[in-house]
Amino acid sequence: MRIRYFDNAATTKVRKEVFDKMFPYFMEEYGNPSSLYKLGRMARVGVEEARKQVANLVNCDKNEIYFTSGGTESDNTALKGIMYLDKCIGKHVITTKIEHHAILNTCKTLEEKGFKVTYLNVDEEGRVNVEELYNAITEDTVLISIMFANNEIGTIQPIEKIGEIAHEKGIIFHTDAVQACGNVEIDVKKMKIDMLSLSGHKIGAPKGIGALYVNKNIEFKNLIDGGHQERDKRAGTENVPGMIGLGEACRIAKRDLKIHAKRLQKFRDMYMQEIQDKVPDIKINGSMEERLPGNSNISFKGVNGSELLMKLDEKGICASAGSACSSGSSLPSHVLTAIGLTSEYAEGTLRVTFGEDNTKEDVEYLIENLANIVKEIRTNQ
Ligand SMILES: *Cc1c(COP(=O)(O)O)cnc(C)c1O
Repeated sequence: MRIRYFDNAATTKVRKEVFDKMFPYFMEEYGNPSSLYKLGRMARVGVEEARKQVANLVNCDKNEIYFTSGGTESDNTALKGIMYLDKCIGKHVITTKIEHHAILNTCKTLEEKGFKVTYLNVDEEGRVNVEELYNAITEDTVLISIMFANNEIGTIQPIEKIGEIAHEKGIIFHTDAVQACGNVEIDVKKMKIDMLSLSGHKIGAPKGIGALYVNKNIEFKNLIDGGHQERDKRAGTENVPGMIGLGEACRIAKRDLKIHAKRLQKFRDMYMQEIQDKVPDIKINGSMEERLPGNSNISFKGVNGSELLMKLDEKGICASAGSACSSGSSLPSHVLTAIGLTSEYAEGTLRVTFGEDNTKEDVEYLIENLANIVKEIRTNQ
C-alpha cells in the first residue's frame, strides 16, 4: 500500500536536491574542515557556504549562525547559554505554557538550579497576550523565549510585538522557529529577534542537524566542551554532510517560500472545509488567521485518538494525535490543555500537517477515509 504522509510537523523526507548536494561529502569531500590540506579546505568551503545559506533564510550575518545537532540542542544552548553566564545566576526567564519540550524541560532544569521561570498563558487560539508578557517582566528578567509557531496547533505568535517589548526593556529575545522556518517569512532584524532555533529535518534536510542564530552583540556560553569548532561555541568535528544538507534546504526554503506556503495552505483549507462539511461534532483548534500554512488540528468529539491513528495507519495514512507526544499516553497534550480544550474533544484530536510531496489525490484519499473511520468509530461505541 502506498504511504500517504501527513505528519510533516514531526519530520519531513529529505529532499532530492538536498540529498544530491550532500552525497559527495560522504565519500569524496570527506576531509575534516579543520585540516589544512586541500581535502580539508574543500570541506571548510562547503560548510561556510552552507552557513551563508542558513543565514540568508533568516536575514542575519553568517557569523551569527552556529550549527548544532538539531532544534533541541539549539533550544538548550540558547537558554542555558545565557542563563549560565555568571551575571545571570538566579535570574528570571519568561516563556509560555505551549512551548516544545526542548524548551519546557530546559526551563524545568533551570528552575531546579534556582532560576525563576514564568510560563505565560495563551488564549483559546493559542496566542500569547502581550499585555500579560509586559506585566510578567521584572528587574531580574534577562531572557524571553517564545516559540514562533506552535508544533501542534500551528498558531503563530505576535513575534514582532514581542521583539519590540524585549528590545525596549533590554531583555534578550529567543524564539524556537523550528516549525516556522521555511513556512513563514522570518527576518531577525525586522522582528528584533536576538536568538533563533531551527532544525534540518523539519525542512527537508536530515535529522541530527540544526542551527542557532545569535545576534553578534550577545554573549553566551557553550554547552559542549572540546575543540575550537563553531568559534568555540560548539565543540566536536563538524557534521559536514548535515551542514551541507541544511544549507541547501535553507536555500530552497527561501527560494520557494511563497509557492510552498500557498500550496500547503490550499491542501489544508480544502481538507478543513471538507471535514467540516462531512463530519459533525468537531472542533478546530488554533487560529484561522495566525496559523502555519500546512497545519490542521481537529478534535473529533467522543473519538479515541489512538484508535483513529491506528485505523488511518491501516489505510496507509500517517498523521499525529494530540496526546502527550503521541507516545501511547492518552492524556491531552500540554498545548490542548493550555487552550482549554475539554477532554471529550481533546482525546480525539488529529494533527494533519501537509508537505511538499502531497498531491490533491492524497488529500482526497485522506478526507474520504477519515470521514468514514470517524463514523465507524462512533457507531461502534
Ligand atoms: C521538532 C521541534 C523541535 C526539536 O527539534 P529536533 O531537531 O527534533 O531536536 C523543537 N521545537 C519545535 C517547535 C519542534 O517542532
